[in-house]
Amino acid sequence: MSDILPDQVGQWQYLERTFQSMVKRYGYEEVRTPLLESTALFTRSVGETTDIVDKEMYSFEHNREALTIRPEGTASVVRAYIEHHVHQQQQLTRWWYGGPMFRGERPARGRYRQFHQFGCELFGDPGPIGDAELIDMLHHFFTSLGIGQLDIVVNCIGDPPTRALYRQVVHDYLMPRKNELSEDSQRRLDRNPLRILDSKDPRDIKAVAGMPSVLDYLTDDERTHFHGVCACLDRLQTPYRVDTTLVRGLDYYTRTVFEVRTQAGQVGAQNALGGGGRYDELVRQMGGPSIPAVGFAVGTERILLAMQSPKLPQPVIVTMTPLGSRAAIESLLIARKLRTHGVHVDLDSRGAAGASIKSMLRRANTLGARLSLVIGESELAAGEVQIKDLLKREQYVVPRANVVARVLEALKAEDAQEGPQAGGAG
Ligand code: AMP
Repeated sequence: MSDILPDQVGQWQYLERTFQSMVKRYGYEEVRTPLLESTALFTRSVGETTDIVDKEMYSFEHNREALTIRPEGTASVVRAYIEHHVHQQQQLTRWWYGGPMFRGERPARGRYRQFHQFGCELFGDPGPIGDAELIDMLHHFFTSLGIGQLDIVVNCIGDPPTRALYRQVVHDYLMPRKNELSEDSQRRLDRNPLRILDSKDPRDIKAVAGMPSVLDYLTDDERTHFHGVCACLDRLQTPYRVDTTLVRGLDYYTRTVFEVRTQAGQVGAQNALGGGGRYDELVRQMGGPSIPAVGFAVGTERILLAMQSPKLPQPVIVTMTPLGSRAAIESLLIARKLRTHGVHVDLDSRGAAGASIKSMLRRANTLGARLSLVIGESELAAGEVQIKDLLKREQYVVPRANVVARVLEALKAEDAQEGPQAGGAG
């Protein structure tokens, strides 16, 4: 679990803003759910035999209630969708969420115990258009962040009867090869054999190489759906490839599953930036009406690893340089006035306790300030303020009553010379 320090927060906010403005354009509205849910919510939806439920959840008991800090977002969003009878108010629902998730995994680069996800869930659309639009949106999102080398992988794992059938096929195929599998996969063979297809262990990859494809077991309806998804992606010219070994971990997926990977930037072995799929049975299974749905989640930390640091616009800063405590109080008043006009003001309050002008101006330079307003004994006595223009290296004294207007004027003149700056005056 990591601290996110101020020098990293700018990148987080940039990513958050990019995601939010994009999903809005696709018609998604934000939903916020609690971090704590009843443990049963996840065991019933994500599935008892998945790694998440089996060994990664932070669960505890409080007043004889079994609770879990959410390991993923979809289960909570589906619970909220059902609990608030949303399907009675709208036929199509597009929701997005974001925030921290918690899984007690083995930490590695790109794999943390508290990590952050953004996700989208589309309720009420059974057809392939919804799947394709989401996959295309992910592509759009990652390319708009400048992330290249994208590998968009899609597959169809069918509805529950097909899955059960294929699960048996996988089990029967791998049973005679059990000793060739990794230890993890030997354990999975009886409980959740489909997970073996997802394994990155070279022994497992070798063992599943000749396995019959899930696509050969799809019903006509499932096949038509999958062809529909691929046809839409072709038409949109969204780059993707079909990989029949993609199953993804969670029990609730039906039909389409997808994942986006990259080798860009600092991404290491944990190269999945996000993934998702259809979950047509989950709403009903959790006590709601029969509503089809499809969604995805992306991981913030991994996206940041994949991204080149964006050049973030720096706000124009004015610093207050008071010499003495009376000057500091005067500076407080001027700073507040300037801020009401949208100016970013840094008050060097050390001046109240006698810090030297040299040390305060050095700090102003480090902050990249444009102007510094100096108030010393003589300025106080004369009712004036000295404006130091740190860019032009000139200074002038203005009456106290005019200082706000003169600062705004100076910033405007410099903005006009240098082009627009985010977060500046006005
Ligand atoms: P999942 O919910 O497992 O389908 O994961 C969706 C995305 O969340 C992944 O592609 C990652 O980007 C991110 N993610 C999942 N688990 C972790 C983790 N332990 N640490 C960091 N990111 C994660």
